[in-house]
Amino acid sequence: MKAERLEIVQGDITTLAVDAIVNAANSSLLGGGGVDGAIHRAAGPGLLAECRTLGGCPTGEARITGGYNLPARHVIHTVGPIWRGGTANEDELLARCYRNSLALAVAHGLKTIAFPSISTGAYGFPIRRASRIALRTIKEFLEQDQTLEKVILVCYSPRDFQEYQEAFQEIWIDP
Ligand code: ADP
Repeated sequence: MKAERLEIVQGDITTLAVDAIVNAANSSLLGGGGVDGAIHRAAGPGLLAECRTLGGCPTGEARITGGYNLPARHVIHTVGPIWRGGTANEDELLARCYRNSLALAVAHGLKTIAFPSISTGAYGFPIRRASRIALRTIKEFLEQDQTLEKVILVCYSPRDFQEYQEAFQEIWIDP
């Protein structure tokens, strides 16, 4: 699924040779399961060593590191909200993850960035709701930024891919 500067793919984010891949990290930035574990395994111990110097990251914010053994040049670590039923500002915090990651990429002159589906694994954010927030936030960002060349949304499972394609249709094609 492709728009001019947005691409939705199914696969493993650690294999992408982009300027930055985004990590759905936890607030310690010291590694975890899911995509975080996969990124640290593929990047090697240099990534954890750099992360230790950062002193963590609050929910909704983002931090940048090198990519080490990854094909990606950088990792942008962002901390998604844990789903608590929808009344704890989860929607806004999730939107901030996308917005702050994109802004950090632009601030570093990066042109290509890939996102996983933030918060929808261990953090339990409903995929349907999260996919719409992701696409709406990326769309709004790209409308006011002309420097990013490609944003890739990487869905790990076929079900997530299906959900993001439906969201793309709703938000990008028939708004
Ligand atoms: P969170 O704690 O933010 O929910 P998770 O890592 O548990 O983070 O899940 C976020 C999403 O990342 C889930 O949709 C999960 O299926 C997906 N994921 C796990 N491994 C990978 C990978 N290697 N590449 C892309 N996405 C992945």
